Amino acid sequence: MPQDLPAGPKSTTAKYWRKPLDADTVKVPHGEIHIVVNRCKGCLFCVEYCPREVLEISEDFNVKGYHFPEVSKDDACVNCGLCEMLCPEFAIFCVLDEEEGGGEG
Ligand code: SF4
Ligand code: SF4
Repeated sequence: MPQDLPAGPKSTTAKYWRKPLDADTVKVPHGEIHIVVNRCKGCLFCVEYCPREVLEISEDFNVKGYHFPEVSKDDACVNCGLCEMLCPEFAIFCVLDEEEGGGEG
């Protein structure tokens, strides 16, 4: 544990203390994640940057020899699409849960 480091800015992972004024009236969407396992190159961008920590890395390998992501918290996805935007291999995408209108039109 370092003892002599100068005091720096506080951690950027501090929790926000405010919540939006309409937080109680907004319905949070639920997304369903689809992973094209054999396209994945195991970069872990999707796992690392998902704001809801929905994904984890599988212990299994795909046909290219990479560990791929799998869903660990099925109910936590908010269909933000960040994993889909970040994936360099177009190997993951999210659709709005069918009960919320996904899959229609
Ligand atoms: S759509 Fe958003 S919340 Fe859902 S798994 Fe992807 S990054 Fe996480
Ligand atoms: S971002 Fe794409 S290529 Fe990278 S681990 Fe996730 S699914 Fe695989």
